[in-house]
Amino acid sequence: MYADIIVDISHENLDKTYQYAIPDSLLNKVKVGTLVKVPFGKGNRFLKGYVVGLSDIPSWDPERIKPVAEVEEKGLMIESQLIQLAYWIKDNYGSTMNDALKTVIPVKKKVKAKEKKQIELVADHRVASQYLGEFRRKKYSGKVRLLEALLEFGILDQEIVKNKLSVGRETVKSLERDGLIRVVTEQLYRNPVKNLVQSVSHVRLNETQQQIADAVINEYQNGIRKTYYIHGITGSGKTEVYMEIIAKVVAEGKQVIMLIPEISLTYQTVMRFYSRFGDRVSFLHSKLSGGERYDQYFRAKNGEIDIMIGPRSALFTPFQNLGFIIIDEEHEGSYKSESPPKYHAREAALERARLTGSSVLLGSATPSVESYQKALSGEYKLFTMDKRAGHAKLPKVWIVDLREELKKQNKSIFSYKLKELMEDRLLHKQQIMLFLNRRGYAGFVSCRSCGHVMKCPHCDVSLTSHNNGALICHYCGYEEVMPKACPSCGSKFIASFGTGTQKVEELVRREFPMARVLRMDTDTTSKKGGHEEILSAFKNQEADILIGTQMIVKGHDFPNVTLVGVLAADLSLFSSDYRSGERTFQLLAQAAGRAGRGELDGEVVIQTYQPEHYSIVAAATENYQQFYEQEIAYRTLMSYPPAEHMVAVMIASKEEEKARIASKVLYNRLEYTQNDAADTEQNKDAIVKIIGPVKASVSKINDIYRWVIYLKCKEYEKLKELKNMLQVYMEQEEFFKKCSVQFDFDPIHSY
Ligand code: ADP
Ligand code: ZN
Ligand code: ZN
Repeated sequence: MYADIIVDISHENLDKTYQYAIPDSLLNKVKVGTLVKVPFGKGNRFLKGYVVGLSDIPSWDPERIKPVAEVEEKGLMIESQLIQLAYWIKDNYGSTMNDALKTVIPVKKKVKAKEKKQIELVADHRVASQYLGEFRRKKYSGKVRLLEALLEFGILDQEIVKNKLSVGRETVKSLERDGLIRVVTEQLYRNPVKNLVQSVSHVRLNETQQQIADAVINEYQNGIRKTYYIHGITGSGKTEVYMEIIAKVVAEGKQVIMLIPEISLTYQTVMRFYSRFGDRVSFLHSKLSGGERYDQYFRAKNGEIDIMIGPRSALFTPFQNLGFIIIDEEHEGSYKSESPPKYHAREAALERARLTGSSVLLGSATPSVESYQKALSGEYKLFTMDKRAGHAKLPKVWIVDLREELKKQNKSIFSYKLKELMEDRLLHKQQIMLFLNRRGYAGFVSCRSCGHVMKCPHCDVSLTSHNNGALICHYCGYEEVMPKACPSCGSKFIASFGTGTQKVEELVRREFPMARVLRMDTDTTSKKGGHEEILSAFKNQEADILIGTQMIVKGHDFPNVTLVGVLAADLSLFSSDYRSGERTFQLLAQAAGRAGRGELDGEVVIQTYQPEHYSIVAAATENYQQFYEQEIAYRTLMSYPPAEHMVAVMIASKEEEKARIASKVLYNRLEYTQNDAADTEQNKDAIVKIIGPVKASVSKINDIYRWVIYLKCKEYEKLKELKNMLQVYMEQEEFFKKCSVQFDFDPIHSY
């Protein structure tokens, strides 16, 4: 047996592995993740290294492969744990070990230790104010700006002084000579929340909250480790429960990771946690530089913090003594990685919890179907919170049938009901949010007279219109031409759909010329901070109407919003994707949750061509159970996850022919293996369905051609076996050197 070993885990070249032989005496001690000592280089200097792979094939002359010298056994190091987790990710999702290691091991990029300079006011306010008066008289505008800002804030980053206040070095020096200010230098590895104040008061949990927190903490303190689920409507007080549990787990000397979607990591959230946990909590988010990010991991490893909050990557925080992992908004798509390894943070969290003996708590107002199924089956312990914690009531919801509007000659994007309510709100100076369901961009084709949607005759998904006028099914490759009239009612009003936010803004301005309008989408938020800027402008009531996509339905509370309009609720229903019903329910329930968060009652208008669709009916009443029962029946019928597991095998090549042939070859290989197995297989659950190969829905990106094969099976292990079989096969075949093949297990979107 041979082991692949990395001798320098903290460096950028994680891919540099060396092969060593494992002596018989150490055979059962050497596993992936084990820390070992090996002779290295010409002088055979002994170095420590980690095992990242095992194999029985020598990579070169076996005579010259040196043996592992010894196994280090002093406790399980955090690196060992993370390497084990990387191995699990590689094995479970089909990536290279190198990609998996890069995902889990925070790597220090070679950045110069940044030195941060700050300008601090040292004179007392009375003296400073006198100087300020004098500077104003003398019209020393630079000095005035700096002193005004310092009188307000006390201390400022030099960067802000230089770039935002446009105050030059000479001005700073001059004030320093006057004894008004000083320049402080701070070695950067800083706590991003250090300068905030910690407050002691926090809310008293209500009965439901207390019961849940007690149940979890009791079991934790008794050494019981399991997975919990809180299904609680928006505003029911889940976050308060999380904080209570965190406090108790930390008091046991353990550490906690809490995952939340980046979009929910607002200033308010940060402040809430900081004011409860002070310096012991840290946050990871995409605005941190590589160096700052590394600093946060380093603080965690050093025991300087107990709580790490952040999106997906926070899961790999190197806590030595992890005890609990919380995943808020567990259903969020952003927990699934889009690039290899295509892991799901929720599943990887369960694995990390298993490796470390931690418990896991999942929470959401709109659970994912897979998690809820596990909660119902008892695999997760389920708690329910069905009332809002504060005084806010649930909003009144109107479902508007857009087919009826057309019959009434209303061709505008605003139904009569929505228009009437918008006028009312503008009159009363209350705010409005208009939500456009962006998933519809995939371009499904529907009839505006009867609502008929063009669907594939073989699969229960909508066809997607392509530029050349063809309608294509992305699951099976079925193709037909775009009809001139609706096949159901004969109307000419059949067209592919997709109204952009920009277009909506234009129409709003035309219809309500007096209203102040803000738009939030990827165009308006692309610059740094654009997102926060728009939200805070709206919160400060600098606009009457906020138009946006998914982005506006999450995060902030706007107490003055009393009307939410969903312009075309079904745009997401017929994207060619088996999760579209789930996504629609989640988006609508969340959008509805935005109205009436404050003292004022809220109303919601959902405009749709499918008023009877279960996702829409259930979302209007925030009735998750009702939605779940319909959805799980559909998934079971169609063998979609979680009824069966699914893997997308994505084949890509620069050469069109190569991609097509490669996908055909892999398909044949799979079918051959399956036919072989089917003869002997007794277990019905192990039967694999092979679908494809078909062109991917975006069949060419950057001149790379893409094909896809879908595999479905009840047993995840079986799909893993096939993945491993394909990987071994492709390694041996020269032909596959020019193709890239990626695996996506239980994909959250179609290819
Ligand atoms: P969720 O995480 O379920 O959306 P939060 O924990 O954010 O809910 O609570 C929603 C609002 O209700 C917050 O403003 C929070 O401060 C408040 N809140 C939560 N629990 C209580 C409580 N026990 N007493 C008073 N207010 C509460
Ligand atoms: Zn089809
Ligand atoms: Zn029709």
